Parts: sequence; structure tokens; C-alpha cells
Amino acid sequence: MGYKIAPKILSLAILSLAILSANSDLPLWAGEKPVVQGSVQIPDIGSRPDWVIAIHGGAGVKAHDQMTPELAGQYRAVLGKALKAGAHILKAGGDGPKAIEAAIMVMEDSSLFNAGRGAALDSHGNARHDASIMNGANMDAGAIAGSTRIRNPIAAARAVMERTENVLIAGSGADWFAAEQGLSLADPLYFQTERRRNMLLKKRENEPGKLAEHGGDQAALFGTVGAVVLDRDGNISAGTSTGGRTNKRYGRIGDSPIIGAGTYASNGSCAVSATGHGEYFMRYTVARDICARMEFAGETLEQAAGQVVIKSLKAKGGDGAVIAIDPEGKVVFSMNGSGMYRGVMTSETPARTAIYADEMVSE
Ligand code: ASP
Repeated sequence: MGYKIAPKILSLAILSLAILSANSDLPLWAGEKPVVQGSVQIPDIGSRPDWVIAIHGGAGVKAHDQMTPELAGQYRAVLGKALKAGAHILKAGGDGPKAIEAAIMVMEDSSLFNAGRGAALDSHGNARHDASIMNGANMDAGAIAGSTRIRNPIAAARAVMERTENVLIAGSGADWFAAEQGLSLADPLYFQTERRRNMLLKKRENEPGKLAEHGGDQAALFGTVGAVVLDRDGNISAGTSTGGRTNKRYGRIGDSPIIGAGTYASNGSCAVSATGHGEYFMRYTVARDICARMEFAGETLEQAAGQVVIKSLKAKGGDGAVIAIDPEGKVVFSMNGSGMYRGVMTSETPARTAIYADEMVSE
């Protein structure tokens, strides 16, 4: 199998090439150790895979000194489970949006990530969820924002896309819609975890009166989850789900439910799911911009994702990362910080995951 023959050295060569081609004037590597200011990675997907799924669990990776092998193992185990849930659908010929929903639901149900249970809490101490999904085959899209009762926000986003003429439903309207559609609801307390309450209390104690917009610890801020898929019919799609940012202003909506900012998919260019400082991703329409560069400027996926995330966005102060896929199934992870919980699996390669920007995905 191509994947088995391709040793780590080949992966590293591809990684270095990708970094050089996308960011030739950035001092990304100094001496033997990488100075991680950004990384554009292209994982091996095998040759001509029938289906591909790539996922992320947010750009807010813990600092190395706060990460234990046990905790890293827990993150990687949930990422692996999410990949397999999506792969199960794709193997059976299910479409991209179904696979995205299945993969994201695993991460929403885990309290490790900032989505579903374990979502970041807002300035009123509540979890309010944003999610979106887009089908690149027909440009259909669906999203919900500011919901407090929907157990799996990505399922509601897919229901908006497939069962209504609307694209975005917000607030109590989103909760009401989910109930009407028979989707699973939860008590608002179900979403709250001790870890997130402590993060909120710490943030308010250290920065009284300041809201999330004033920056701070990335691990406390960016933990959004997302997925991009190529299905057996050759269609690409993308989805994203989040609790937003710790101590976000009551009513604040980020980029994750905004089509073109946090999520975008078109069979004519690419599919993208983003994580990071949402206000920047909205202002710079990051997901659409990456695909538009491919469409109008003829750039490759790695060039477009590197240019937007590492060059343009970082220069403006927009921290974050994206996962992206093109119609051939090529996957790109583009990060302008220290990493992103991420993983990839294809019809030809096993589930592999990574956390930091200076590592490639591995089993
Ligand atoms: N992009 C999300 C937001 O700003 C946060 C994240 O990626 O974790 O709402």
C-alpha cells in the first residue's frame, strides 16, 4: 500500500516543500529546530482515494508544559473515533454532509473540545453554540447560531440545510426549530463542565470587566471542531461547530456559523473549516477567500491556504488555522500558531492524528 511504503522521511519532505512553496519569504525554519510561526502541511492521502475525511478540534492547543502524554492520548483517541465515525458513513457510500455530522457529533459529545458538551461559556456563564455545514455539490448551506438547548448543533445545521429554504437560524428560533424537527435537546447544564467554568472564572478574575475580544490564552479561546470530506460521488463538503470564545459578549456570534468565513464548500474550488479568532475570520472572509484564490487566481490549495492563514491573517493579528480539501481529495492543514488538534483518514490510509504544528499526523 502506498501509505505503508511512504516513510516519515517522505512526509517530512512533502511538509518542507509545502512550507517553502507557500511561504517562501517567511523564516519558518531556523537551524535544526523549527521556529513554529506557521505551517502548511499536506498529509499523505494515498493515490486516488475513493473518499477522504479530515477533521480538527481547534487551534487552541495546550502549551507543551501543560500537556501530558495521557491527555494528548485522550485528545487523539477522540479525534480517531470521530474520523472512524465519518469514515463508516463514507465507506458505505453516504454523502459528505452525513459523514461530517457523524464525525463532528463525536467531538461535540466529548467534553474535551469547545463544542456541544464542554463548550466555552459566555459572559453570562452559559454555553451558546454556533454551527454550520455546506455541501459543495449544490452550494446548499445550513447554520444555527446562539442556541442553548440543541445537543448536537451540527445536526441542527444539517437540518436547516436539508429541510428548510433558510441558511441561518439564530437564538431561541434555532432551539425551537430543533425541537420541531425532533432533534435531541439537552438541559443547558448538560453542556457545562467544571473545566470551562474554571476557565471563565479565571478569565474574569484576571481581567475583570474585559470580554474575550481582548485576547488571552489561546487554549481558553479556540477549541472549535470541524470536518472536510470528499465522498465516493466526488463531492466535497465542510462543517464547523463551536461554543465560541470563553467570556464572549452575551449575544456575540463568531465565524463558525457564517458561510464564507468559518465554513465554505464548492466542488469548483475547495472546502474549508476554520478555527481561530472569529472576528478576523469574518472580516477577511477566510474560508471563501481560500477557495476564491484557487478559482480566480489559479492557486493550489496549499498556496491559497498558506497565503490567507499564514501571511495575510497573521499579519493582521488574526490567530487561527484551517483544514481544507480540494476536489481531488488533497488535504491541507494550515496553521499560524503553535498547532491544531487534527486528523485525517482515507479509503487508502488509516486514521492518523496530530496536535502541534511541528509534527505530522501519525497513528
Ligand atoms: N472561531 C471560533 C469563534 O471565534 C473560536 C474557535 O475557533 O475556537 O467563535
